[in-house]
Amino acid sequence: MSGMTTFQADPKAPPPKLSDVPSPEGRFGAFGGQYVPETLMAALAQLEQVYDKVRHDREFWDELRGLFATLVGRPTPLYKAERLTAHAAELSSRHGNGGQAATIWLKREDLAHTGAHKINNTLGQGLLTKRMGKKRIIAETGAGQHGVASATAAAHLGLECDVYMGSEDVRRQRLNVIRMRILGARVIEVDSGSKTLKDATNEAMRDWMGSVDGTHYIIGSVVGPHPFPMIVRDFQSIIGTEAKAQSLRYIGRLPDAIVACVGGGSNAAGIFYPFIDDAKVQLIGVEAGGRSRSAGDHAATLSFGAPGVLHGTLSYVLQNSDGQTADVHSCSAGLDYPGVGPEHSYWKDSGRVTYTAADDAQALDAFTLLARTEGIIPALETSHAISEAVRLAATMKAEQHVLVCCSGRGDKDVDEAARLLTQRDEQR
Ligand SMILES: *Cc1c(COP(=O)(O)O)cnc(C)c1O
Repeated sequence: MSGMTTFQADPKAPPPKLSDVPSPEGRFGAFGGQYVPETLMAALAQLEQVYDKVRHDREFWDELRGLFATLVGRPTPLYKAERLTAHAAELSSRHGNGGQAATIWLKREDLAHTGAHKINNTLGQGLLTKRMGKKRIIAETGAGQHGVASATAAAHLGLECDVYMGSEDVRRQRLNVIRMRILGARVIEVDSGSKTLKDATNEAMRDWMGSVDGTHYIIGSVVGPHPFPMIVRDFQSIIGTEAKAQSLRYIGRLPDAIVACVGGGSNAAGIFYPFIDDAKVQLIGVEAGGRSRSAGDHAATLSFGAPGVLHGTLSYVLQNSDGQTADVHSCSAGLDYPGVGPEHSYWKDSGRVTYTAADDAQALDAFTLLARTEGIIPALETSHAISEAVRLAATMKAEQHVLVCCSGRGDKDVDEAARLLTQRDEQR
């Protein structure tokens, strides 16, 4: 409401841009904020202060860009998926769109070091940790991708690293546990609650409350209290900044649509944000539709949730009728989260971004489809975006272009995919 007052007070002022968030108080419209215990307020204030300084510090960004180029392998390519496009054209003729389809392009974050976009954020926050003079980082992880990216940043920057991981996830994601240990990180198993990501996040926050003086908590997505959603978005925006330049170079203009999967929402925020004020570019976020639309069977927070507070921020949350955080399900561990970043809630309510869901079966189909048309095995998370991109491209014109954020590679998922594919074939 205070925004309205300002607007009326100065009718000649240009209307605020959608990209011009968060407010100094950490609000994205009504969403965001800092819902944390007193003990963490000082740490958040320190982080805000340090980040405020480095935002305009050439040296910091030069150092980060150097790491992006030499350690991560950036810029990641923009890849023209011609055989996937041909598949969409086939769908188009079956569905009465005359056999035409938009060209599908993949932004190849799967080629980033450690196999996903997560490393963009952990290197940025790792450098911030050093600026604050802290020597230890902690992180939460579900599938282990953020844990591996944190352990990698810690190894490179000479920081101590403890990663909280639910014991159920430790069992399911053994390979990533081994990778973290090889990189010198300690993996701390969490046995409380459902023994998964939400519980690991609770433990990491508890650790931080007792260790803020020497420890930085690297949150793995655009979630948590201010300034985390802004900081993670800014570090991940390298994806969209590169994609924009590559579109202009290879397509000759901006794409017509961009599609990305949404767990907490960091790869989507990273590719969307540099396009957010380009109203002609349609933006589509794809959540995990799971095995059904019933509560507990999916993780489609923006489709089925309601505003509430989870892990220090006000955003859409999947809740039971009594307001408790609901159980969630997805075939992909990285989308299996009952919350979502506050900026996505803002984009949803403003109508700028459309959110939809792909279910487990559609994701699994897209997983094998991309492998067999392009020779690229995507992460199961990414497969949700691929599924929607193919469906969408088949409704569009031949001269149009769809960009998909290929957020990660699927090596970590081959055991789970093999199990699900066998199950599916037995049911047919
Ligand atoms: C972690 C992960 C995601 C989901 O996280 P976001 O913050 O929503 O991006 C998606 N894809 C891959 C490959 C991941 O590792």
